[in-house]
Amino acid sequence: MLYAVVDIETTGGMPGNSRITEVCVVVTDGKNIKQRFETLLNPGVPIPSGITTLTGIDDAMVAAAPVFADIAQELHHLLHDKIFVAHNVNFDYSFIHREFEHLGLPFSVQKVCSAKAARKAFPGQRSYSLGNICAHLQIEIHNRHRAGGDADATATLLERIIAFAGEEILLEMAGRSSRQITLPPGIEWADIEKLPATPGVYYFLGNTGKPLYVGKAINLRKRVIQHFDRKRGKSALQLEQVKAIDFEETGSELMALLVEAEAIHRLWPAWNKAGKLPSNRYAIVHYPTAEGELRLQIARRSRGSAAGIPFSRLGDAKAALSKMISENGICASRAFSNKGCKDPTCYCQESAEARKGIHNARIEQALESHLKINEAFLILCRGRNEEETGVVYMRNGAVCGWGYADEIHANSDPEFLVKKIPDIASTRAIAGMFLRRMLAGTAYGYNLMSLEKEMVTSKESKKKKSTIKN
Ligand SMILES: [Zn+2]
Repeated sequence: MLYAVVDIETTGGMPGNSRITEVCVVVTDGKNIKQRFETLLNPGVPIPSGITTLTGIDDAMVAAAPVFADIAQELHHLLHDKIFVAHNVNFDYSFIHREFEHLGLPFSVQKVCSAKAARKAFPGQRSYSLGNICAHLQIEIHNRHRAGGDADATATLLERIIAFAGEEILLEMAGRSSRQITLPPGIEWADIEKLPATPGVYYFLGNTGKPLYVGKAINLRKRVIQHFDRKRGKSALQLEQVKAIDFEETGSELMALLVEAEAIHRLWPAWNKAGKLPSNRYAIVHYPTAEGELRLQIARRSRGSAAGIPFSRLGDAKAALSKMISENGICASRAFSNKGCKDPTCYCQESAEARKGIHNARIEQALESHLKINEAFLILCRGRNEEETGVVYMRNGAVCGWGYADEIHANSDPEFLVKKIPDIASTRAIAGMFLRRMLAGTAYGYNLMSLEKEMVTSKESKKKKSTIKN
């Protein structure tokens, strides 16, 4: 196993506000030094005098030094396939992670803290600061508080730990502090690093390039790594069949769900279980009392029942119900029972016949507007970049297609905005679920746009130009 022992100097303590002024990486196999990389960095911000006093690094020294972006490739190459070791590793790791992140480079490696490892290997010491543990072990530090001096000392400390306590404790710590990721033989970390941390759909491809598995994710990279986590993923034997990973960014969760459902339907990947439809376990239902007054209720829905307005999550049903009540001026007490309304301005104060009339009319109006999803409209969601918008075209409850567009108007012709996709039960169910979440106000970042009816059917409008992007 190769270890990249890292030490950095910074302009302060917080990776969010402070920058790196010096970095040193010492690569060791635990017995011998294999490589050494050391450089000052221009942090792009003034170095506080207190820090200069501690490290001896001042603004003049870093003025002509490279910036992080200049060394990012080399540093990434040095670190990406090794265990990252540092004294109080989270400090160094978070700064370096942050710098890569600024550049849009994903960075994730296993890490081990040499202070914690020293505590395991040499228990009973009062302090495990680098200075103290090195003094105890008679490791000399040249240039304390400079990246090179501290990294060299930490590398020597690591060698002592391994010599004294064995490499096992380090490997064990790496497995526990991060996760034990085992990539299949054909997959490399570089393949994983290509995956963006954005919503989308990923494909595990087998020998012949045939998809073995299709999955959706809010964060593609994180989700794929989970599959290779020894503790959580599929069996190693099965994963060995994965020869390549393909992916597609979708911008939004809704689009990821739709793309996944359509791909499963079309490709029949071996590992995907038969498409699970979102099950609607709750429904807003209405019923008349003996006096003929309408009441609303959230009911548990039995399998296959079509009654009421269905929801898969109780929270969505509750949110939708309270929205229906407030938006339609329904008395919140009378909606559920005929007791308890004390509001002197409420229609409850009217005569029995009059209040029943008002109350029932409002409930009917609420139900009707909620169920009115049988016309043509677009669901607009986040696109794959700032400029574009995701578009899902629905008509009469069916998903007719989806795509991405730079500009959408109420008179855009959906036939040109989207790629036509055959209507299938799973996409219909997914879109329906989202629609009800939107109506309940619990789907953030999604909007509805009704289409001008004539545009939907008009042949004339098809001559209009809108871009389709896929
Ligand atoms: Zn009332």
